[in-house]
Amino acid sequence: MAWSDYKICDLCGDAKVFYDANILDERYCATWGEPSDYDPIGLKAICGKCNKTHEVVIAPRAALAEIKGESHD
Ligand SMILES: [Zn+2]
Repeated sequence: MAWSDYKICDLCGDAKVFYDANILDERYCATWGEPSDYDPIGLKAICGKCNKTHEVVIAPRAALAEIKGESHD
């Protein structure tokens, strides 16, 4: 299957996480496709190898901006 048919690991960017070519939910498609009437969902996924040493965490954007030293206008 083609590389583009998969959700790619958000950490290493070098591994397929799951097959997503048959996911037709507009909210999911808006995360990577053409502009749509739907807001893209927030979705992060990591591969099995990265999952052994990392985990996905949900945090407020403002808190992350502060950690990164970014100003939040
Ligand atoms: Zn990975």
